[in-house]
Amino acid sequence: MADKTTENWEQRLRDNGFRITPQRQLVLQAVEDLRHGTPEEILAEVQHTASGVNLSTIYRTLEVLESVGLVTHAHIGHGAPTYHAVDEHVHIHLVCDQCKSVESVPAAVADAFSSDLRDTYRFETDISHVSIHGRCSACAGTPPRMSDVQE
Ligand SMILES: [Zn+2]
Ligand SMILES: [Zn+2]
Ligand SMILES: [Zn+2]
Repeated sequence: MADKTTENWEQRLRDNGFRITPQRQLVLQAVEDLRHGTPEEILAEVQHTASGVNLSTIYRTLEVLESVGLVTHAHIGHGAPTYHAVDEHVHIHLVCDQCKSVESVPAAVADAFSSDLRDTYRFETDISHVSIHGRCSACAGTPPRMSDVQE
């Protein structure tokens, strides 16, 4: 995976028949700068430089970048996916449903689970695509307080 650095992003687009455009470069740069970005967050970042860009352009551009393997996404919240640059180390998001914190842990923690699925079901798991929901260590150690309960 070491060859997937952004130094060859232009080559990657060209090899797949896409043109190099300032928009594609700006969106890729925004994903890298944010490290974790929803399309809305990426839009806000890109608009610092290119104010005319809209959300549907961001979605289309992310689709292109993802199709050539420059960005990837994971589902962290219930809304839009979160985008990452692919040269980032593969990780899993642990989402606390109580305090809403998100912790990134190396994908290797799921190796035993993934190889079980491969051996038993011949299923190749893309573990970093999903998030693990539950309660973080702080929340698991303390029962929910009434003041935390909304409504
Ligand atoms: Zn992440
Ligand atoms: Zn997805
Ligand atoms: Zn928590």
